[in-house]
Amino acid sequence: MAKQKFIYRCSSCGLTLDQWMGKCPQCSEWSTITEEELLDKKNLTPSRMRESKPVAFDAIEMGSLCKRSCAIGELDRVLGGGIVEGSLVLLGGDPGIGKSTILFQMAHNLAAQNMKVLYVSGEESAV
Ligand SMILES: [Zn+2]
Repeated sequence: MAKQKFIYRCSSCGLTLDQWMGKCPQCSEWSTITEEELLDKKNLTPSRMRESKPVAFDAIEMGSLCKRSCAIGELDRVLGGGIVEGSLVLLGGDPGIGKSTILFQMAHNLAAQNMKVLYVSGEESAV
């Protein structure tokens, strides 16, 4: 059997549980159960904290980030120089403001750079 790594604690009454629940069975409060990592008894430090060390901002390596120009100057500027491979960007705006249009332009420009583009939409038909 796998060793349990997390416990769930009610922030209202302090009850601990083996599994998450939406409503605390002791104090009947909703959304007060939060996940906590069990401490390693040898080190009394959560494993996540042992693995990471503080790093100064100017020591962070940016070389592995591959930014690719969308060939739309203003969009590249907003994205900090282009889109980052493997990243996710949320584009928001009022209806009719041109979100789909700018994404079509970006997809066209990236395809013109021999990149594969997959366009997925839940709102538009193919015809
Ligand atoms: Zn509670």
